[in-house]
Amino acid sequence: MNGFCPNCEKESLLLIVQQAEDFTVRGESISVEVEFYRCQECGEEFENLKSTIDPYEVAYREYRARKGMLQPEDIRAFRIKRGLTQKEFSDFLGIGIATLNRYENGALQSEAHDRVIKLAMEPRNLMGLISNSQGVLGDSKKQRIISQLAEETETSWLEATKDVFGNYDADLYSGYKKFDLAKFFEAIKFFCFQERIYKTKLMKLLFYADFGHFKEYSVSITGARYARLPYGPVPDQFERWLAALILDDNGIRREEEWMQDYPGEVYVGNTSADLSIFTPSELRVLATVKEEFQDFSAKRISDISHNEIGYQETEPARLIRYSYASELSLKL
Ligand SMILES: [Zn+2]
Repeated sequence: MNGFCPNCEKESLLLIVQQAEDFTVRGESISVEVEFYRCQECGEEFENLKSTIDPYEVAYREYRARKGMLQPEDIRAFRIKRGLTQKEFSDFLGIGIATLNRYENGALQSEAHDRVIKLAMEPRNLMGLISNSQGVLGDSKKQRIISQLAEETETSWLEATKDVFGNYDADLYSGYKKFDLAKFFEAIKFFCFQERIYKTKLMKLLFYADFGHFKEYSVSITGARYARLPYGPVPDQFERWLAALILDDNGIRREEEWMQDYPGEVYVGNTSADLSIFTPSELRVLATVKEEFQDFSAKRISDISHNEIGYQETEPARLIRYSYASELSLKL
């Protein structure tokens, strides 16, 4: 073919030459087929600037293939499939965003980073990373990705929600107990079985049971954390728990009931609680709370809970410390 030779500085007859060339990648010799021009007149060899083949890129691909490492498009495709931005994914990996960007565009990743990315690509691991992260993803995006991962790993919606929102330490805000979702749920079933309990009331019953047990035994029943909301103390993230419990079809039904002129949520239990998971002291407190408030309307129990010192002294939307349990009005 004819083309411009930079040596002769004119059009001349060029030959396209393909030749194996050795590249050294991390001490490993890799032979790559490279393409260049040879001027038929002066014999000068020079690279084909129009060639789309970058020999280093080819050498890196070969190196990654030999070592079983991820290729750039694997990393990018995975991140995009999960709906994560480079910033979000790099935060989960603990790798700088610029570094991740280079990897996705052909730079050769370190072996340590390759392992980290591969581990993060395992659905269960990614679920753990996302669950334990704080402030990387918004709540709804976090829950959406967790739900997808849960489906793929056949983890129930309930378990997935627990991974995200119930995975906190046993401290003064949880009544010195790790969150025990099974007990939390069986307590709800215990209160709702063959009853119609307004959501507002149900939240207060749980509060009195946990704080009441802490008052007597210095440990809560369910490990739930309670927040000060306008309607009184309520289990932190209670909407998620209730949604998860109902979605997983655990014997609790939610119905809408009109209270005067606005709709309220009523919880109805179809199956009796498994009481075998509770200790005798827990059962006693649960039974006392149920009996004590049996005839209380949602409004009345709500009013009483507003007068609790722990509620009054906690800032709005903050968690209530179990140390306030000693001041609880409930007699046990
Ligand atoms: Zn030439």
